[in-house]
Amino acid sequence: MKKRKFLIDLNFITVFLIIIIIISTAIIAIVGYNLNKTIAVTSSNIASINEIEDKSTGRVEGNIEENTQNTFSQSQRINSTNNVNIPSQNQQENAGNISNQTQQGNIKNENQIEQNTGNTNQTNNNKNKQNNPNSQNGVIYLTFDDGPSANITPKILDILKENNIKASFFLVNYSDSNEKLVQREVNEGHTVGIHGYSHEYSKIYRSKDSYLQNIYALQEKIKKSTGITTMYTRFPGGSSNTISRRYHKGIMTDLTKELLNRGFKYYDWNICAEDAGSAKNANDVYNYVVKYLSKKHGNMVLMHDFASNKKGLEALPKIIKYAKQNGYTFEAINDDTPMFAQHVNN
Ligand SMILES: [Zn+2]
Repeated sequence: MKKRKFLIDLNFITVFLIIIIIISTAIIAIVGYNLNKTIAVTSSNIASINEIEDKSTGRVEGNIEENTQNTFSQSQRINSTNNVNIPSQNQQENAGNISNQTQQGNIKNENQIEQNTGNTNQTNNNKNKQNNPNSQNGVIYLTFDDGPSANITPKILDILKENNIKASFFLVNYSDSNEKLVQREVNEGHTVGIHGYSHEYSKIYRSKDSYLQNIYALQEKIKKSTGITTMYTRFPGGSSNTISRRYHKGIMTDLTKELLNRGFKYYDWNICAEDAGSAKNANDVYNYVVKYLSKKHGNMVLMHDFASNKKGLEALPKIIKYAKQNGYTFEAINDDTPMFAQHVNN
């Protein structure tokens, strides 16, 4: 009888253990599946990289292929503590697709003309102004990178003027003949920021010093052209770029901190117009932008005004029309604009 009871107990324990094992296995399977899913999503967001040679300049530029799923809106977070917008990493700048970028922008300007336009410095004087994250809901910050160019930039400025809109331009080095465009940008109330004297990833991301030299050189040039010392920057490829890993592991982690320590701000984006990327025509550019406009947060729109970018130019009036009809407002980046910072991946 005792032996039988013992056997019953043993059976009970065995069944109990089997149930525990089944439950554990199920939990592990579910957790494992979700983990795999997360890894898959992360991987799909990490841009694949290849290099193309810019035919017009002979420069080798990194071509960061964009994930066109544009899923940033689900993952965009607003960090209320330090008031930083954190768009998702898949919104990487496709800066390498500048197939016909004008040579003018790469010619070193030896004869910089100092012009004092009487403009005040564009600096980060946040002490005087408290940021209110909600105040940028429904605001569109149009930003144009890689300019100025003689054929596109003036037309963009005309469109902005007609619509009474202020925008922001993140510049690369410009020729003497294009200097007046930078002055016009400032005179017409737009913000000028630093993209970089050079846009060549292999040079600028080689070391912290190379990067800093690259932005200070352009800052100085812009100051000579306009009288403005701009502290607004945008990393070529964005702060989340992975191509910089090739040239210096961990450099983006260092640079993002270093810039803030030096009083700069950097602005990534949460909407990529794909005008330097996968958009085939102006209609694609329009669709990429309006699809992700939101009134629940600020909209930092990445566009380009390099010489061959007709798609962006053609899409611009339609984007503005849509935005105005739907109650959006436009602002140039200013000292009240919180940083838009993507997730750093290097
Ligand atoms: Zn760029």
